[in-house]
Amino acid sequence: MTDHPKEPDSDTLSALIPDTRLYIDGAWVGGADQFDVKNPADGSVVAAVSNASSADALRALDAAAAAQDTWSKVAPRARADLLHRAHRLMTEREEAFVRIMTLESGKPLTEARAEYQLSVDFLLWFAEQTAHLHGSYSDSSNGTFRIMVTHQPVGPCLLITPWNFPLLMIVRKAGAALAAGCTTITKTAQETPLTGALFTQVLHDAGFPQGVANLLHTTKSSGISEPLIKDKRLRKISFTGSTRVGSLLMEQGAGNIVNSSMELGGDGPFIVLDDADIDLAVDQAIICKFRNAGQACVAANRIIVDKTVEPEFTRKFVAKVKALTVGNGMQPIDVGPMISARQRDGLSATVSQLTEAGGEVLTGGSAIDSPGYFFEPTVIRFEGRNEIMCSNELFAPIATIFSIDNAAAALEFANESDFGLASYVFTRDISRAIIFGEKLAFGMVGINRGIMADPAAPFGGTKASGIGREAGHDGIYEFMEQKYMALTVAEELS
Ligand code: NAD
Repeated sequence: MTDHPKEPDSDTLSALIPDTRLYIDGAWVGGADQFDVKNPADGSVVAAVSNASSADALRALDAAAAAQDTWSKVAPRARADLLHRAHRLMTEREEAFVRIMTLESGKPLTEARAEYQLSVDFLLWFAEQTAHLHGSYSDSSNGTFRIMVTHQPVGPCLLITPWNFPLLMIVRKAGAALAAGCTTITKTAQETPLTGALFTQVLHDAGFPQGVANLLHTTKSSGISEPLIKDKRLRKISFTGSTRVGSLLMEQGAGNIVNSSMELGGDGPFIVLDDADIDLAVDQAIICKFRNAGQACVAANRIIVDKTVEPEFTRKFVAKVKALTVGNGMQPIDVGPMISARQRDGLSATVSQLTEAGGEVLTGGSAIDSPGYFFEPTVIRFEGRNEIMCSNELFAPIATIFSIDNAAAALEFANESDFGLASYVFTRDISRAIIFGEKLAFGMVGINRGIMADPAAPFGGTKASGIGREAGHDGIYEFMEQKYMALTVAEELS
């Protein structure tokens, strides 16, 4: 899909492995036991990292709670300086971030570099926002008093992140939370803890005060998140992951009415209308579907194409899919492995289910026999609409194409989903673009583009895809609460 870099040697890689312990109250500390991090490209062990217990988690909360008041009073400019320093350190450590991400997540180096660059941009965005927080001053509606509104940090935050974008998801949460004046406990995904450790080392080296940013790795996610969420000192959960786990965490937080932001699953409809630039749509569909081997919440999940252009789209798309190379992300390939053997092993059944529902496999369809967790880039075509893919997030290098009668039918089919994260429409007609933009029941609509993330844009979904928005101009306020002060003022000067 893109230019390919050279493969780094194993000595270089082992020198890049960060501290594998937990980071609590400003220090790296070992856990009671350890677990292995595996390279999904060959199943080899990359490192053993500390496995946090619930006691470790509560120690992290003790530290975050103790640091909260002081951190919230650090001047915005001083908080911004720390974030700028962290940003500079990140830019000096590019190779470590990129290679470690590829090693533990399997994504190709080119994609790891793109994620790294976007993460750096997000951190800079939050650094810049820190000293630009605003409030308001206005008259009450009856004119008898004044209204002053400011924003205060919500308090200690638990940030739970997934493995598919192991750096971006942490930076997007921790950057905003720290900028807002909150202390943090980041829980990495057990598949990709090393990237989180590299970022935490950056925060440590930048000089963030003791207790402000804590880091936990664990194989017992619920064993550490539940006691944290049920502790009244924790005031915020920011979660990215599956809808099932997001819903569970919201239930756990209900008792203490914990402020929650949820970035959950999606089933991105990717619509190509009869007036679209087909070559552009094909290129963008390839990136949108096969980036990260399809393991992205914003991936094109249902490719919905007007029947008059569908044969041309499908022919060009399948040709490009057949040309994709699959393999170890350290080598010059396009598509890496699935994150786990379990994930890969379930896909053959998925393909059977789709074909039994009327889908025709145009290419791929099988796991690749290898120690790594690879699956062939696959295209399955349906004649007409088919409910099997509504609210069914594939999270795999499997593209489904639906040949649809017209624009109205495409819109109706696209909206038949419990999810509401990302959607896409390709058209040259401005009115159609706007009508689709307004009527697609999704938090984000890509118009003639298949990639949308940007620090200046609000990222997030509706319905089962979550609550809240990350980044953009208002994302930082997800980590703050409004404070309203009502002020009686004398009528005249005395
Ligand atoms: P997951 O929900 O299984 O795991 C996400 C995180 O939650 C991991 O850190 C995991 O260890 C933790 N976790 C798992 N079970 C838990 C529990 N019972 N209690 C507390 N924490 C728990 O999801 P995943 O498989 O890692 O990621 C894939 C899902 O994430 C997909 O549905 C994808 O769409 C979604 N996702 C969404 C976004 C977004 O921004 N909306 C971004 C990336 C991924």
